[in-house]
Amino acid sequence: MYYTKVNQDNCIACGLCQIISPDLFDYTSEGIAFTKMDANAGNAPIPAERFEAFLAAYRKCPTGAILRSESPFPATEQ
Ligand code: SF4
Repeated sequence: MYYTKVNQDNCIACGLCQIISPDLFDYTSEGIAFTKMDANAGNAPIPAERFEAFLAAYRKCPTGAILRSESPFPATEQ
């Protein structure tokens, strides 16, 4: 089981992850990516049927802004 979220400080709003994996990623009005399933909290597991698309986006993000973990990400104050 994997979890993901976007490190929005490193996202350059290139649009790639949403093109590759539109079920998992969406954008703010400024084009900064976030995970759709948990509003970028990183606490909802990636569905098995979307894992291949997730991996493709994860590998192609030009800045490494897409994070991956085998456990839920801790809650952050934002
Ligand atoms: S691929 Fe990376 S840099 Fe591009 S929008 Fe997605 S998270 Fe941001």
